[in-house]
Amino acid sequence: MKIAVCVKHVPEGTSRIDPGTKRLDRAGEGALNHFDANAVEEALRLKGDSDTEVVAVSLGPQKALDSLRKALAMGADRAVLVSDDAAAGSDLVATSRLLAAALAKEEPDLVLFGQQASDADGAVLWAAVAERLGRPVVSQAMELSVDGGTVHVKRQTEHGYDTIEAPLPAVVAVSDAINEPRYPSLKGIMGAKKKPQDVLSLADLGVDAGDAGEAGSRTTVLALGDPPARADSQKIEDDGNAAQAIVDFLAEKRLI
Ligand SMILES: Cc1cc2nc3c(=O)[nH]c(=O)nc-3n(C[C@H](O)[C@H](O)[C@H](O)COP(=O)(O)OP(=O)(O)OC[C@H]3O[C@@H](n4cnc5c(N)ncnc54)[C@H](O)[C@@H]3O)c2cc1C
Repeated sequence: MKIAVCVKHVPEGTSRIDPGTKRLDRAGEGALNHFDANAVEEALRLKGDSDTEVVAVSLGPQKALDSLRKALAMGADRAVLVSDDAAAGSDLVATSRLLAAALAKEEPDLVLFGQQASDADGAVLWAAVAERLGRPVVSQAMELSVDGGTVHVKRQTEHGYDTIEAPLPAVVAVSDAINEPRYPSLKGIMGAKKKPQDVLSLADLGVDAGDAGEAGSRTTVLALGDPPARADSQKIEDDGNAAQAIVDFLAEKRLI
């Protein structure tokens, strides 16, 4: 079996919006999206001691290789980075197009995603990629097993659990409740450097530059601003009596 895990390299620390591009400033330090560590862990758990191949796939700048190397250090076998200047500024539509093209080349039996990217918090990319690949998709997986050509998923919902099965090849987005990701060992970190790491351009994927980046996007950020101040808010300065003032406020509103 071959499992592809989609991982995103996201900005670390405080995020800043670049007023010029109206996009997130991604120039600083980055790290593996922590929700994707759950997806990598689940792929490695499914692999166990078998000869299943786990391929980590990302779309991003060259420095996204750092996050792919973390996936390799955890135990993934191979990494594929789609990186091209023309891909910068890709919205959901363009991102899903490029990732789907990379995944179509790999032909994995199972594609795993994290539940959301912590920078954009969209929680929709897996659905868009599955649609492009024409594969079934299950989200919020908190238990996952593969039996022959079928994936079995216990799916977390607001009101309980759904038990779902789908034929392979399929796409599954895992919940962050599914497992506790392992920390890479020193041996894993050293070994990661020697594992195959392919960097693909748009040309390698057969995608035109006009279908990527801003040119291939359907979303435009028109303006950014602070949320409007709440008219009925009351600010309590702590002069030593703040706790009592808060209690009085809540009591007045009949909230306690
Ligand atoms: C106008 C505009 C411009 C943008 N420009 C950029 C940009 O320049 N660079 C940028 O990184 N984002 C950019 N974004 C955000 C980007 O489009 C989304 O983060 C991306 O489409 C993922 O969608 P999502 O947030 O819904 O992901 P989610 O649905 O929240 O992510 C779910 C899962 O998808 C996978 N995933 C998400 N992104 C990637 C990725 N890149 N590679 C591999 N797996 C992934 C992970 O497994 C993740 O857990 C832009 C968005 C807009 C609207």
